[in-house]
Amino acid sequence: MNKQLRKTVIAGNWKMNKTPQETTQLIEEIKPLVANASCDIVVCVPYIDLHAALEATKGSNIYVGAENCHWEQNGAFTGEISAAMLSAIGVHYVIIGHSERRTYFGETDVTVNQRVRAALKEGLTVILCVGEYLEQREQGVTDELVAMQVKIALGGVSKEDLNNIIIAYEPVWAIGTGKTATAQQANEVCAVIRKTVAELYCENCANAITIQYGGSMNAKNADELLSQPDVDGGLIGGASLKAPDFAAIVAAASKS
Ligand code: PEP
Repeated sequence: MNKQLRKTVIAGNWKMNKTPQETTQLIEEIKPLVANASCDIVVCVPYIDLHAALEATKGSNIYVGAENCHWEQNGAFTGEISAAMLSAIGVHYVIIGHSERRTYFGETDVTVNQRVRAALKEGLTVILCVGEYLEQREQGVTDELVAMQVKIALGGVSKEDLNNIIIAYEPVWAIGTGKTATAQQANEVCAVIRKTVAELYCENCANAITIQYGGSMNAKNADELLSQPDVDGGLIGGASLKAPDFAAIVAAASKS
């Protein structure tokens, strides 16, 4: 399948950065800049900003996502938010397995899988993050490691549900560091992920799945990264907090 036939998705990951009021402001700035985009656009915001984001994006081409969700529907999980709760307020996307969750909050491949399955059950589209630490790249285990993360995260996920999965390849050493993977490195690992999906499901499934690159993508390097044959979009941290930069990445994706 031709790359043009896959969905290109640019998603912002705002992390712990904006108040609801600032959320409304930033979305109002972004909206006119991306109104003519031909790719899908998502902003993933802190839980407390979801209502403001849903309100501000009404009638626009921007979808709203959360940055995580719990695997249970409800219960004694102080401080957590379930996929069912997200879906109930109209959220469409959720990031799962971001390296900051894995590194600072003890998430494992097993809990990532539980969260993925819970999100799919509630009809959310998952942005599943995988990626290696610098030491792992230096040890030459990137491909095996990323394939293993994908396999465990997708355990129990049906072929049909794969339509609601985006995989984001995010080398941990490139996140928030200003060190971007080269376009070739990004493409190589995205291709490994695609091959893994083909082995787990089918060749057509692999050709149809959107695989993003994330890690210091910005207005300057987006063109080259997004024009790679196996890179179908981006998960953007820092640059998603500046409307003109985010819009420039969306523009690059719209022509890739
Ligand atoms: C991210 O947090 O997913 C990310 C890619 O961040 P940054 O773009 O800032 O590296």
